[in-house]
Amino acid sequence: MNSGIHQRTEAVLAGDSLTAEQALSLISKVKKNGSALDALHQGAEAIRRQFCGEQVELCAIVNAKSGRCAENCAFCAQSQHHQTATPIYPLRQPDQLLKAAKRAEQGGARCFSLVTSGTRVLPGEEIDTLLRVIEQIATQCDLDPSVSLGFLDPQTAMRLVDAGCVTYHHNLETARSFFTNVCTTHDYHHAIDTVTVAQRAGLRVCSGGIFGMGESWAQRIELACTLRELKIDSVPINFLTPVAGTPLENQPALAADDCLTTVSLFRYLLPQARISVCGGRQYQLKTRQNEIFKAGASGMMIGDFLTTSGSALSLDHQLLQQAGMAW
Ligand code: SF4
Repeated sequence: MNSGIHQRTEAVLAGDSLTAEQALSLISKVKKNGSALDALHQGAEAIRRQFCGEQVELCAIVNAKSGRCAENCAFCAQSQHHQTATPIYPLRQPDQLLKAAKRAEQGGARCFSLVTSGTRVLPGEEIDTLLRVIEQIATQCDLDPSVSLGFLDPQTAMRLVDAGCVTYHHNLETARSFFTNVCTTHDYHHAIDTVTVAQRAGLRVCSGGIFGMGESWAQRIELACTLRELKIDSVPINFLTPVAGTPLENQPALAADDCLTTVSLFRYLLPQARISVCGGRQYQLKTRQNEIFKAGASGMMIGDFLTTSGSALSLDHQLLQQAGMAW
């Protein structure tokens, strides 16, 4: 049974790409036989070692502008369609944002993202302020500045590049075939268009999804294949943290093994990408968070997440030490 997994691992290590069908057959082996799970994780770890090495890339974010978003993403605490207790505030002051970047740098992050709610930042003062903060981060910190500002147009993309922005973050969130279960106020192609605009401007794109929203294994694979087609080389994996007041508030948690298998699956399908485990790590993995690297992850988000608290930096560092990973 596990010889099939070893064969696929050898093929990926030799530079071959897995098809969606082959990825699905890995999952069916894991579901039929518990020992196949270990073989899958070991294979994913070997692929991660070969293509990404032993050093973890850490990233961090700040919620720069929170709440009142007109979209209805079912997982999101910031949508004005849902009644949640998430704080609502306009764009934070530049000194607060710079302070958050410096804290992230001290914590070992290499990439720091300014994240705003809504599908676009406002022209004028809002974007001008963000551009100034990006310039300050680029010149005052040893960090790659990143932003996540919703949909992107080519002019704004070029202004971001000129300010020193390195990465544009925009998640596809889930598979195209599952997207209308998650959001009905915009289309999947809006996210794809934004990825393309950012890439054309020369920005690195960080794009992934959220797992545990009711999608199937085939849909997880579909998302990974779409990211591969888009040549995304930085993929955040988030696990749903159900927020009271959102349509997914009662969504059952994934099994920890399924979270880790999702990480492994993405490593097989995107062998060279930075695969970072971000939101929902504590909620869904609990005592098994240090296994993400054995499952194939090469990155991790530290500090707080967008609308949920993360761990203290000392705990994140302890976790990395337990896992034997340098950062
Ligand atoms: S995920 Fe983004 S676009 Fe969707 S509701 Fe939340 S802030 Fe708005």
